Amino acid sequence: MNLTSENIKKAKSKLKYPYELFINGKYQKSTSEKSFDNISPIDGNLINKVFLAQQEDVDLAVLKARETFNKGHWSNLPPGKRKKILLKFATLLERDRLELALLDTIDMGKTINDTYNADLPTSIDNIEWYAEIIDKLFDDISPSSNEYMGLITKEPIGVVAAIVPWNYPLWMAIWKIAPALITGNSVILKPAEQSPMSAIKIGALLSEAGLPEGVFSVLPGDGPITGKSLCLHNDIDCVAFTGSGEVGKLVLQYSGQSNMKRIQLECGGKSPNIIFADCPDLDSAAEASAYAIFGNQGEVCSAGSRLIVQKEIEKDFLDRVTKISETMKPADPLDPSSFAGAIVNSEQLEKINKYVNIGKEEGAEIKVGGNITMRETGGCYFEPTIFKDVRNNMKIAQEEIFGPVLTTLTFTNFDEAISIANDTEYGLAAGIWTKDINKAIKASREIRAGTVYINNYEEGVDSTIPLGGYKQSGIGRDNGYQALENYLQVKSTWIKIS
Ligand code: NAD
Repeated sequence: MNLTSENIKKAKSKLKYPYELFINGKYQKSTSEKSFDNISPIDGNLINKVFLAQQEDVDLAVLKARETFNKGHWSNLPPGKRKKILLKFATLLERDRLELALLDTIDMGKTINDTYNADLPTSIDNIEWYAEIIDKLFDDISPSSNEYMGLITKEPIGVVAAIVPWNYPLWMAIWKIAPALITGNSVILKPAEQSPMSAIKIGALLSEAGLPEGVFSVLPGDGPITGKSLCLHNDIDCVAFTGSGEVGKLVLQYSGQSNMKRIQLECGGKSPNIIFADCPDLDSAAEASAYAIFGNQGEVCSAGSRLIVQKEIEKDFLDRVTKISETMKPADPLDPSSFAGAIVNSEQLEKINKYVNIGKEEGAEIKVGGNITMRETGGCYFEPTIFKDVRNNMKIAQEEIFGPVLTTLTFTNFDEAISIANDTEYGLAAGIWTKDINKAIKASREIRAGTVYINNYEEGVDSTIPLGGYKQSGIGRDNGYQALENYLQVKSTWIKIS
């Protein structure tokens, strides 16, 4: 279906806004009946009140998850049968694509074009990819002595809590739950408090697809209560977390304070995007560099937020990026032609504004943007902003702003470029633009980041390629075969042959 203002309006008029917990195959209130206000950043209006899951709700969801895991209705199902249920789930996401896209747009303010044409198709692809591979994987037999046969088999880890952020509400959730479910685990999903609705909705879709009751729960709630209770729970075997480094470090501590559960972390970034003077195509590089920071309002973990340009092309290149940024201004998220939408909430908007002021105080110069905009909507919007004359020890070059703010630094030679690129606590992604294949490969080897883009930036996100961080950008990987490892135990079985 082509996205038009007409069909968006029609779908919105029929939209139901999910607000309950989903436990044991049923929607229900939280035990305490406490709820939180779910506000849309599009216009600052209250969407609904969403129940807040607390300790008793966490305990119930874990109990049901453990019971179903132990009964084996899902965990012992042959992979080929699990595959069919997840493939059916993918078709239901396609059926309800516009509804789910609208829920995410209204919840967190990103454009309907992004949710409908990017987040939904990539989520569906991710589910299909994991469903399709699961009955084509084999376990191993070790090359040990003839007296023994050594089997190395993989088993589901057990009960997995997936704690996810708001920047791609459905997509980030699917990155965890598709590989965790397909490997036979029970999964409890905790969406971010800023964007709970699509997560709640998929509870019903998984049931409709045939997932046994109890295998999948959704617990909307906040971090310090719902998230922390999950992380400290002694009957959860793994927490798969995407979010800030600050909370990621807490999650590691909670594991140590409880049952040493396995922790997978996808955290923040301050990714370098290096433009060498021999860049093959300055226009393509400028377009990709602008997209890398202004796409999704800059609320992207792997955003190319540090543009590192060779001194002799700085002015020319920045002029090109600035010109393109004029086409990337925020506008109504529900208009299918908008490039960018709202910032997730007023706290995040204030945070971005605070960093812009810090940048000015630190002595960086604003080339374009720098302001909150569209105040008349009642929503949260920020102009695409470019800082020049940034030094790498400035806060705006070191700390994750998570908004449409590009910091530009310059270098004179290869070693200086790599040194600036690596001078950060993060290591999620990096871009390199050069015609020289030797230089590109050398740079790619020397940069400490989980993903390196050569002569592109983030053009090729797909399910086959693992994504994750070096240094404080995380532990483990989402996507690809590698993500399955997060959710599997390895068992070695020695059989004596007599
Ligand atoms: P956040 O860390 O504030 O929250 C993430 C999740 O953790 C939310 O569900 C939140 O409720 C929960 N949480 C908060 N406090 C908690 C606690 N004490 N215990 C347990 N759970 C808690 O992050 P955010 O603001 O939602 O998302 C933005 C961050 O996510 C950025 O740093 C961004 O880089 C990162 N991110 C990383 C990736 C990646 O793949 N590496 C992808 C998307 C976002």
